[in-house]
Amino acid sequence: MDSLYQIPGVGSKTLEKLKKLNINSPQDLLYHFPNRYIDFSHSVAINSVLENENVTITGKVMDFKNIFTRNGKNIQKATISDNTGKIDLIWFNQPYLSKNIKTGDNLSFAGTISLYQNKKTIIAPEYGQYNTGKIISIYPETSGLSSKWFRKIIQTQIQNLLKPIKETLPSNLISKFKLLDLKTSLFQIHCPSNPQILSQARTRLATEEILSLQIKAYLSKKDWLQKTPKNKLKLTKTIDKKIKKLIKSLPYKLTESQNKVVSEIYNDLTNSKQVMNRLLQGDVGSGKTIVALLACYLTHLNNSLSVLIAPTEILANQHFQSFQKLLGPLSIPVFLLTGSKKIDLKKIPKNGIIISTHAIIYQKAVLKNKISLLIVDEQHKFGVKQRSFLNSSLKLPHCLTMTATPIPRTISLTLLGNLDISIIDTLPQDRLQIKTFLVPDHKKSDCYKWIEKEIKNTNCQAFIVCPFIDISESMASVKSAIKEFEHLSKAVFPNLKLGLIHGKIKSDARQKIIQQFQAKQLDILVTTPIIEVGVDIPNSSIIIIQSADRFGLAQLHQLRGRVGRGHLQSFCYLFTESNNQKTIDRLNFLEKNHNGLKIAEYDLKNRGPGEAFSVIQHGFPSLKIASFSDTKLISFSQEILKDIINNYPDYNFSKLVSKNIISESIGSN
Ligand code: ADP
Ligand code: MG
Repeated sequence: MDSLYQIPGVGSKTLEKLKKLNINSPQDLLYHFPNRYIDFSHSVAINSVLENENVTITGKVMDFKNIFTRNGKNIQKATISDNTGKIDLIWFNQPYLSKNIKTGDNLSFAGTISLYQNKKTIIAPEYGQYNTGKIISIYPETSGLSSKWFRKIIQTQIQNLLKPIKETLPSNLISKFKLLDLKTSLFQIHCPSNPQILSQARTRLATEEILSLQIKAYLSKKDWLQKTPKNKLKLTKTIDKKIKKLIKSLPYKLTESQNKVVSEIYNDLTNSKQVMNRLLQGDVGSGKTIVALLACYLTHLNNSLSVLIAPTEILANQHFQSFQKLLGPLSIPVFLLTGSKKIDLKKIPKNGIIISTHAIIYQKAVLKNKISLLIVDEQHKFGVKQRSFLNSSLKLPHCLTMTATPIPRTISLTLLGNLDISIIDTLPQDRLQIKTFLVPDHKKSDCYKWIEKEIKNTNCQAFIVCPFIDISESMASVKSAIKEFEHLSKAVFPNLKLGLIHGKIKSDARQKIIQQFQAKQLDILVTTPIIEVGVDIPNSSIIIIQSADRFGLAQLHQLRGRVGRGHLQSFCYLFTESNNQKTIDRLNFLEKNHNGLKIAEYDLKNRGPGEAFSVIQHGFPSLKIASFSDTKLISFSQEILKDIINNYPDYNFSKLVSKNIISESIGSN
């Protein structure tokens, strides 16, 4: 079968509806998996049914009535009998049933036995051969295509649909790992014979799904390993001495974690055979910037160019300042390139360090083949177009991506097999845990009063993050921030100095406000969530996040990370008007937990993947059957991949990768 048209009863109208579920071919239909099942395989005599039991009964229709009640309801009632007894069946608002169920018919019905007007009854039972006497599949539906419709079509067509399916894995491997073969699995997932084989079928298909992602990453890594660096960097004695000297001049000692990741990165940079493709993961405030700086410094000392790209101008500015402060005195050429600060790249010396926003994309022609090290900070904040530029057009520099979003191991094993990963897993020692409190609406004003006192007493500073309206800095978010700013300045904190930043304020002006805040000329900075990534102002020790319930936990953790960056005791207040218990539980979790990875794993379990983990270049795939929190499954398919690589050198990976089991990616790309 090569077209859905070949299925009897499927015309252009049905095709339109199928399209809505992303089903465009017979294969898509085969991969439209049920999301749950009801076991009606238990066929019983009518006199032996038990309350709450799922059963199938078979008997003669003694009576079928269409009843209209006084309050306008429409009920269908049938009585069925077999040679042991009789039972009533009830449906609501399905008058057309009289066409299919007629007195005298012998039929099977399936449903849950319940008590109705004190009699054992089946409410809204299924009937007919496709829906009774077996485990039935419940499918994702769309208007006009019910689960029942899918059951009938798939059960009648399953052999045709399966015909073109070929096994994707070597048969020895299938028996070694005790997998069900692919055809049987696809059959059983739709028409399960029993719960055991259904579970085997699901495992096989879920493994296949994860495996195809792991293979993609593996192939991309293999590809990357073919590349050799153009500029070979060296860590000579003289260079090493200079680096040590710079490290010694820092106002703090590097943590053990920082030292470890720096040496991992240096190993990569000085490897003359392979190009670095590394992800540096470290919780907010763990000190990734200095690591980036040290990587750039080694590159500079090898007379080669580095570029550090940040997702916002604020952040690029901030990185530029930190780099200037440390490298300026050594007369190292550091440049800033943003939308509002243009430079002529032709004039950049060979050993320069460029700090930039994505504005650099527009000058890529000049830079092509010249960059030795590309560092991307918070890559997931970049849009699709910018990412594909980062991935393709700069041609073979060493690549380091930095992220504060902790990545659960299951996700890195599935999607990031192409990257080497370095983790900064400790925070600098002098840090105190940020005290976090959930503040219900009626305690808001107490909280404001406390903050005013704290600012006056300790001279600290505060951020107030305005309600999050949407991801892009829309007019609506800006308006709400302006309104909130006016309210706070006039009515709440008339005695303090407040500043406001949001995305629609011109970059120069915005920079000025941040500088004022840095210089302690402002007590409170009111802002939209644009400060989320990276902003580092160690004297601010209080952050209020309004409408905290609208943010994901990972994002809240990032926002919270704007404070607690110095040695002051810091405080984070999560404002919420929500009374929803789930929401409160989620925010309570953040109150009590400070480990980014734990927080990310909680989000993964409770809200699924999504924005939080979109650090991955190709966006986040939505899984059909496997789950990113299934640790066992993910290591199992990792085992299988290793086995394939070791024992089947001629295995054709495209068999798995090209299969359309993976649906569209969520979000970007
Ligand atoms: P992030 O990892 O979130 O990008 P930053 O690099 O901005 O963190 O560092 C956060 C703050 O910690 C900065 O003010 C930085 O100067 C400081 N810092 C970095 N490393 C250390 C360290 N080893 N000891 C103390 N402070 C450090
Ligand atoms: Mg940072």
